[in-house]
Amino acid sequence: MKHIKIKGARQNNLKNINVEIPRNQIVVFTGLSGSGKSSLVFETITAEAQRQLYDTFSTFARSRLPKYDQADYDSIENLSPVILLEQKRIVGNSRSNVGTLSEISAFLRLLFSRIGFPTVGMSNHFSPNSPEGMCHKCGGAGSINDLDINGIIDWNKSLKQGAILFPDFKVNSLAWKLIVNSGFFDIDKPLKAYTAKEKETLFYADGLKFKLSEGEQGFDANFNGIVTKINRGFLKKDFNSLSKSRQKIITHFVKTTICTDCHGARLKKEALECRINDKNIYELGTLQLTELHSFLKSIKSQEAETVLEQLIKRTDNLIRIGVGYLNLSRATGTLSGGEAQRIQLAKQLGNSLTEMLYVLDEPSVGLHPRDVDLVADLLKALRSQGNTILMVEHDPDLIKIADYIVDMGPHAGSRGGEVVFQGNFDELLKAKTLTGKYINQKIPVKKNFRNWSNFFEIKNATANNLKNINVKIPKGVFVCVTGVAGSGKSSLIHKEFLKAHPDAIVIDQSPVGKSIRSNPATYTGVFDQIRDLFEKENPTTMASLYSFNADGACENCKGLGYILMDLAFMDPIKTNCEKCNGNRYKRDVLYHKLNTKTIVDVLELTVNQAIDFFNDRKILKKLNVLQEVGLGYLQLGQPLSTLSGGECQRVKLASELHKEGNIYILDEPTTGLHLSDITKIIELLEKLVNKGNSVIVIEHSLDIMNNADWIIDIGPEGGKNGGELIFEGTPIELQMKSESYTSKFLNLYNS
Ligand code: ADP
Ligand code: ADP
Ligand code: ZN
Ligand code: ZN
Repeated sequence: MKHIKIKGARQNNLKNINVEIPRNQIVVFTGLSGSGKSSLVFETITAEAQRQLYDTFSTFARSRLPKYDQADYDSIENLSPVILLEQKRIVGNSRSNVGTLSEISAFLRLLFSRIGFPTVGMSNHFSPNSPEGMCHKCGGAGSINDLDINGIIDWNKSLKQGAILFPDFKVNSLAWKLIVNSGFFDIDKPLKAYTAKEKETLFYADGLKFKLSEGEQGFDANFNGIVTKINRGFLKKDFNSLSKSRQKIITHFVKTTICTDCHGARLKKEALECRINDKNIYELGTLQLTELHSFLKSIKSQEAETVLEQLIKRTDNLIRIGVGYLNLSRATGTLSGGEAQRIQLAKQLGNSLTEMLYVLDEPSVGLHPRDVDLVADLLKALRSQGNTILMVEHDPDLIKIADYIVDMGPHAGSRGGEVVFQGNFDELLKAKTLTGKYINQKIPVKKNFRNWSNFFEIKNATANNLKNINVKIPKGVFVCVTGVAGSGKSSLIHKEFLKAHPDAIVIDQSPVGKSIRSNPATYTGVFDQIRDLFEKENPTTMASLYSFNADGACENCKGLGYILMDLAFMDPIKTNCEKCNGNRYKRDVLYHKLNTKTIVDVLELTVNQAIDFFNDRKILKKLNVLQEVGLGYLQLGQPLSTLSGGECQRVKLASELHKEGNIYILDEPTTGLHLSDITKIIELLEKLVNKGNSVIVIEHSLDIMNNADWIIDIGPEGGKNGGELIFEGTPIELQMKSESYTSKFLNLYNS
């Protein structure tokens, strides 16, 4: 059997390791968070496969592709082209949806071009993104953005007084000067006194010629009205491609209404008149995938047999992977990361690629144990097509189906970075590693559930698929909301509950800290105290010298540690700063020490090491909290941008631990957590509750369910066939009284 052979891997914390991975198998990489799984799988193997592919392209093609950094290793053999399926939410443009993402829309258009009636032309006549198919009024967007003129004008003011409220036209801005110097307007007259003609010019002029006088000289220039300019500048552009601040401005000044020609269907009339068994292509896009599947199976046609076969196979794959509750027109931006990943996975199965390397990041995220079984089947199918599957995963159900397991450890950060076990599942059960231990021995189950008498009440909940349900959420206890994917958990908590309780604190997995200059030291505030200590020990210097954001910054890279080279058509290239060698500081700063360490040495300490090094009470108090949430392995100076979603969530949790009387909402806090870390997160949640907070988690982890005080189970299925409250009570009652999927899997797990 051929193996992927990695020699001398040293990326991040990897300890110069050699690893051999069998091809054409399902291989799981597991281990504590921070042990080095991502460093090996994503930053070394995947990056190298991408780089090797990149090197096969012509110089011309390469100049148009992003550049891949070389990972730190000696050699890797027997790689093949890699397909990376990440958890990340796909931003995509507003026209990207489940249909385009899964490629099903393309096949559906082909079907209509073959057997739709009355016949129209080619398949692009059914695409809202092609000029032949799109509704002309809205350009295929389905909605129309109208600038609300009364919103952008203060009619009582003159141009000079700032009558135009749209930020780009504020007094003294370039756009404002163009208007004022055009000679078309009386700039002291309030706009309400303008004639119809003046208003027309001010708002709608389109390329009106005029002489712009600048000092002595005059220039020929074109004058465009405010509305014309805003339309060209923003409204014609894809909303999602605009910066966040732009989007905010636009939503403030623009009214979006549904297109009166196509009523949101995005297609021109002829395309919508074409039908198969009474349904047009737009209507098929609004059907739940399970319904679309039955519809497709009911079509009898020899002419379109192969297209139908493809469509049925592809919708079937999506249903099998547990997203049968979605429809094709659902915008990609509204999908969870897990849903997007599964759709891409199902798409791969529709292709007949073989000998590929598939790399997945925790495919179990967002999945109920029932859904995990579905994903396992898909992975096996990919394997039998002759592919190799590598995944980073903690879920015992997925570890069980692996042909081969690579367990990383023994600990995190500098105390990790080694392979502590490799072999099959039976061998893992006997292995003396943390993973082996936790796979064998279950996390203890809660016996004494907290009583409660006060509760929040959600009445007549109807968001998305919710079936007008009433739910009581107990106060001051640990509540777990469960149910298969798409059953309505997020709709209940994030839509309905948060609508009534906007003061609840959502602790999600989004990045912490906006600046690329933030790190655990700056985020917790210990950096200030550390700099003061340096000042005290080196009385000739000031604390600000020890900041890479202030006096201490390397002159060459301004304290970033790297230089960004901006290239016109490509992603910018990052290169290590040669002057400071990436450490961010001016050389002089490093003459000064605290005990034996320079500020650079201190920032390289992990939180755990720093706790041993310092004896300042304030510093220790802040660092202890990070250790408590299991992040002791992070380096003080490690940019927060390198943290995973789960780590970000725990950093946020750390800053909440001393508060009381709040409502906390957490979505899958076990994401990215090794079984041994789950004990820690349970302890943290218990701590929050003991302080008098209410904790609501949406979770699929059976260990979390076992340790909740109260369970709310939504179901029975996803989408239309879900949205009902099927159980509320303690975990024990769930196992005894309910027949839901959750009850079934919890019983199985605890038996
Ligand atoms: P895992 O995937 O097992 O959670 P990682 O491979 O992400 O672990 O991280 C291994 C170690 O390397 C951790 O200590 C982590 O903090 C560190 N690390 C990860 N990325 C970077 C980076 N870009 N710079 C410095 N340290 C990093
Ligand atoms: P869960 O959290 O249990 O996975 P959700 O509450 O996210 O389920 O979804 C419940 C149902 O509502 C699903 O059918 C889903 O497709 C639908 N849904 C969720 N968000 C949206 C949205 N933004 N637009 C339309 N439908 C949505
Ligand atoms: Zn339209
Ligand atoms: Zn520098």
